[in-house]
Amino acid sequence: MTAATSARRRSLSEYRRKRDFATTPEPKGGRRKSTARLFVVQKHRATALHYDFRLEAGGVLVSWAVPKGPSLNPAEKRLAMAVEDHPLDYARFEGVIPEGEYGGGTVMVWDIGTYELEGDETFEAAMRRGRIVFTLHGKKLRGGWTLVRTGGRKWLLMKRRDRSASETDIASAKPRSVLSRRLLAGIARDEGGDIAKAATGDPE
Ligand code: MN
Repeated sequence: MTAATSARRRSLSEYRRKRDFATTPEPKGGRRKSTARLFVVQKHRATALHYDFRLEAGGVLVSWAVPKGPSLNPAEKRLAMAVEDHPLDYARFEGVIPEGEYGGGTVMVWDIGTYELEGDETFEAAMRRGRIVFTLHGKKLRGGWTLVRTGGRKWLLMKRRDRSASETDIASAKPRSVLSRRLLAGIARDEGGDIAKAATGDPE
């Protein structure tokens, strides 16, 4: 592990406190060592539709909720609210969180891959400074991105100008799961969720 990838150990206590693992199918999670650093974007039709953007650091997935989802257009800065760290196991979680539980609704793995931190700072130092610069190697999201904190839990997720920048509306153009090719409604149908609610997060 290089200096740029190491980070102090982070805690999953808030993640676990919010959930009843006897009820929800979400992973309870544990730490494990990993060489490739994961990123995942989970499309989540909960109280409101949002995209959970997660970067592996310090043995967990550091997480933001992005209401409008990522944009490939560098001119479109997307609000990203910092939320609790999630376990690494969560990266492949796709299914239905029971209604009434925290985050109740349908979850899709919208994109997954690896990422590299740019520069010499550690992830923790970049977080403290409020500016994380990284390159994504996903199926839908690629190239340079930046997360900048604007205050409190509010950050902005921005595409950097490079070959993978585009004016394509990626959320509409590529609405399916990268794991199962399902839309949200299909996941809800297969997993016993609220199909009509999930469908409101799918394109018409
Ligand atoms: Mn969520």
